[in-house]
Amino acid sequence: MFESSCSFISSIRLGRAVVAFALGVFFVVESGFASEPSAVLRIGYQSSPPYQVIGEDGSVGGIAIDLVRTAAERLEIELEWVYCPKSPDHHFAAGDVDLWPIVTDLPDRRRRFHITKPIYENSLGILSREENPIGSPQETAGKRVAYYDREPSLTLVPQLMPSAIPVPMPGHVDAIESVLRGESDAAFLWSTKANSMTFKMALDQHPEVPIHFYAFPDEKLSCGVGADKNDPAAVEAADLIREEIGELVREGYVQTVYFRYYLDPENEISSFFWLDDLRRKANSLAVAIGGLLGLVALLGVMSFYFQRSRKKALAATKAKSEFLANMSHEFRTPLNGIMGMTQLAMVNPANEEQKELLDVVLKSGDALLTIVNDILDLSKMESGRLSIELEPLDLEDLLVSATSFFKIVSAQKSVAFESHISERCPRTIKSDVARLRQILFNLVGNAVKFTSSGCVRVSVDTIRLAKGEFLVFDIRDTGIGIPENLHGEIFEAFNQVDTSNTRNYGGTGVGLTICRNLVNLLGGEIHVESVVDRGSVFSVFIPLLRVELGMPAQQDLEAPAVPQVIPRELSILVVDDNSLNLQTMEAVLKRMNHKVTCVNDGKTAIDKVDSQPFDLIFMDLHMSGFDGWETTRAIRQRQAAAGAETPIVALTASVYSKELKLQVAREMDGLVFKPFEISALHNEIERLTADRN
Ligand code: ADP
Repeated sequence: MFESSCSFISSIRLGRAVVAFALGVFFVVESGFASEPSAVLRIGYQSSPPYQVIGEDGSVGGIAIDLVRTAAERLEIELEWVYCPKSPDHHFAAGDVDLWPIVTDLPDRRRRFHITKPIYENSLGILSREENPIGSPQETAGKRVAYYDREPSLTLVPQLMPSAIPVPMPGHVDAIESVLRGESDAAFLWSTKANSMTFKMALDQHPEVPIHFYAFPDEKLSCGVGADKNDPAAVEAADLIREEIGELVREGYVQTVYFRYYLDPENEISSFFWLDDLRRKANSLAVAIGGLLGLVALLGVMSFYFQRSRKKALAATKAKSEFLANMSHEFRTPLNGIMGMTQLAMVNPANEEQKELLDVVLKSGDALLTIVNDILDLSKMESGRLSIELEPLDLEDLLVSATSFFKIVSAQKSVAFESHISERCPRTIKSDVARLRQILFNLVGNAVKFTSSGCVRVSVDTIRLAKGEFLVFDIRDTGIGIPENLHGEIFEAFNQVDTSNTRNYGGTGVGLTICRNLVNLLGGEIHVESVVDRGSVFSVFIPLLRVELGMPAQQDLEAPAVPQVIPRELSILVVDDNSLNLQTMEAVLKRMNHKVTCVNDGKTAIDKVDSQPFDLIFMDLHMSGFDGWETTRAIRQRQAAAGAETPIVALTASVYSKELKLQVAREMDGLVFKPFEISALHNEIERLTADRN
C-alpha cells in the first residue's frame, strides 16, 4: 500500500516534471522550469478534545491535529484546515473537505469515504452506578443508556444493546453526568487513554457516587485518517500521512506531543504502532517458520526418497555381489576339474611336449582364477564387505612368498630382480598378511609384466611422518612407464594406460584399484612416480604396527613341504553333487593309492557312513538338497551315538572368508578350496590321518 502510494505520488511528480520540461523546451523559458502549484487538500476539524482542540484565540491544536499537521509538512503535502462542526459523514457528503484527521472505522462509513489503516484503537465500555451495576450488554435491556450522540455510538448502541432505551447526549461528559445524577442507568463510552482526564474530571464532580464499569472484552474500534474516496490524491495523501505518523512514533515525536498535552508520553497511538510492528514481525516470523516447516517437510520428503533410492542402490549392490559370488562359484567348479585333472596328468606326462602343453593349461587356469578372485574382491569392496584381519607376520617371509614366483618369471625374461629389507624394519609386524601379500603380488607382478630389460627392485623401509610411523614398500622397475597425466586414472577400475595393454601384456585393469582399496583399508596410501620408457616406482605406505616380543608370527601357509605319496591306503568318502568334481577327486585320490567311495548327495553319504567305516570324508559344502553342513551335522550325531568320529574336510568353491574359516573350524576338521592344488589336498589328508594306518 505504502509502496503503491509512493509510486503514484512519484509518477504524478514525474508527470509534472515531464510537462514542465516540455513546456520549458517549447517556450524556452529563461528562468528554468515553471513549477506547477501543488494542489492544496482541505482537511476538516472541529472541537473534539483531546484530539481536536480549538483554543480561545481560535488556534487549532490537539493531538490528532498536531500529528497530522507535522506528518503533512514532512511529506510536503499542503493542507487547508476547514472548520466543520458536523460529522465527517456530513462534510464528506457535502464535498466540504478532502481529508479528516481522525475518523472511527465503521463498515457503513467505508462505503462512503476512505479510511486508512488504524492509527489507534478505542475501547468500549458501560458505566453504571455501583448500587445498580450493569455487568454485561444484555443487562441494559429496558434500561436507560446515555451516549454521545454521534458516530460511532449511533451505529454501536442499537447493535450492541438492542433492548436498551437510548438517551442521546451532546457529549461523553454529559452522558457520564446523567448517570451520576441518576437520570440514566448507564452510559455507553468509547475512549482512549487521552479521554481519561476528561472522564475523571466529570467523575470527580460526584465523589459521593461509587461507580461500576464494564469493558467490552472483544470489541475495539479502529480509528484512521479519512479521505474523499473519489479523490485519488486525497486517498494517497491520507495513507502517506498515516505511515508518516508511524515514523513519528518510531522517532519519539508522538510521545512528545502527548507529553505536551498530558505530561505523560505513554499513549494509544505509540502502543498501536508498536503492536502493529510486532504483529508484522510476528507475521514475518510466522511466514519464515512456515517456510522453514515447508523446508523441513521438503527435506523429509527428500530424505524419504533418498532412503528409498539408497535402499534400492544397496539392494542392487547386494544383488550384484551375490551374482558375482555365484558366478565365481560357477567358474571355480569347472576350473577345479581342469586344474585337478591337469595336475594329475602332469605327474606322468607321455612326453616333454605334452608336459609343456599341460603346463600352459595349468597356467591359463591359474590366470583365470586370479581374474575371478579380483572381480569378486572388487565387488566386495564396493559393498563394503571386505574386512581385514590384523595378525603378527614375518616381514621376510611375506616378501619371499610375494616375490619368489616373480623372481623365476623375471629370470626367464633376463630381467634382474632384487629385494631388500632395511635394517630399520622390525622382523615381525602386525598387519593382514593375506591382503599385504595380495598388494605386493599385484604390484610386483605389474613391474615384471611391464619390464622387458633392466631390473625390478622391491625394497622395504620405515619412515616417520606427521601421522606416525609407516612401513614403505617401494616396487621399482625399468619398464615402459606411465604417462604423467594417467598417474591418477590407472587406479580407477578397468583403466589401462593403453587398451593394447590387454593384447600385449594381458590384465583386466582392476589390480591397482584393488591395491589402492586394500592399502586404504589397512590405513595406508599408495603413490606412483613414473616416466615413460624409463620405468615406474609404486610406493605403498602402511602404518607400522610393532609386535610385542614373544608373539609368534603368522606362518606362511603357501609353501608347505609335503611328501608326494602317503605310504598307506586310506578309505575316503567324497561327497559332491557335481560329477566333474567327483571324477577329479576320485582320480587324484586314487593316484595317491587310496580307496575312494563317491556319492553325489548328503542323504546317501549318511547311509554310507552308517554302513561302512571311513578314514576321512571330503564334504562339498554347496550341495542342492541336503547341503554339506547339514550332512556333516547328521553324520556327527550318528557317530557320536556309536562312539566313532571320522575327520571331515570341507570342500568349497567359495572364496576365502573369515566367517567361513571360523565356521569350518567350529564344525569340521579341515578345509580345501576348489580349485585345489594336489599338494594342499595331500597336506590335509596327512594332517588328519597321521595317527591312522
Ligand atoms: P592390469 O595390469 O590388469 O591391466 P592394473 O590395475 O594392475 O591392471 O594396472 C592398470 C594399468 O596401469 C595397466 O594396464 C598399465 O597400463 C598400468 N601399469 C600398472 N603398473 C605398471 C607398471 N609397473 N609399469 C607400467 N604400467 C603400469
